Amino acid sequence: MTFDPTFLSNFLLELTAFGGAFLAALWIALVIWTYRDIRARARDPLVHILSALLVALLNLPGVLVYLILRPARTLEEEYQHTLEEETLLQALEDLPVCPGCERRVQDDWQICPNCHTKLKKACHHCGRLMELPWNVCPYCGTPVPGMRQEGMSMDEALRGLQVGDSDGEVKIE
Ligand SMILES: [Zn+2]
Ligand SMILES: [Zn+2]
Repeated sequence: MTFDPTFLSNFLLELTAFGGAFLAALWIALVIWTYRDIRARARDPLVHILSALLVALLNLPGVLVYLILRPARTLEEEYQHTLEEETLLQALEDLPVCPGCERRVQDDWQICPNCHTKLKKACHHCGRLMELPWNVCPYCGTPVPGMRQEGMSMDEALRGLQVGDSDGEVKIE
C-alpha cells in the first residue's frame, strides 16, 4: 500500500476550490436576497443599492447589520396597516356626535346628556324618534304638530291634534 502525496494535495485543492465556489455562491445569493428584500421594504433606489453594497462588502456581518437596520414592515404590510387605520378612523367619524358639544351620542338619544342640546324628537302619535327637521313621522305618517302635511288644509292638520281631547277645550270652528 503506497501513499501518494500528490493525491492528497489534489484532494485538498479540489476541496478548497469547492469551498471557495460555495462561499462565492453564498455571497452572491446573500446580495440578491438583500436586494429583493429591501425592494419590498423601501422605494428609494439609493437605499436598494446601499443595502446590496453593504452585504456585498461585508457579507454575513453585512447581512446582520442589514437585518438590524431594515424597515420593520414591507411596503405591502405598510399599505395594509394604513388601510386598517383609515377604516378605523372612518368608523369613528361615522359615529353620531352632538352638534352642541361634539361628544359621542347614541342614535336613540333625544337629548345630549352633556350640554342638553335637543338631538331627536319623538313622534307624538307612535313615540318613535325622528330627526329634528322632519315634518312628518316616517313610521306612522302623523304630521308633527304645527306642521302641515302637503295637500292637507290647516283645519285638517289642527283636527289631527285634537284627537283624544274629549272635553274639547280648544274648539276650532
Ligand atoms: Zn352635547
Ligand atoms: Zn309616528
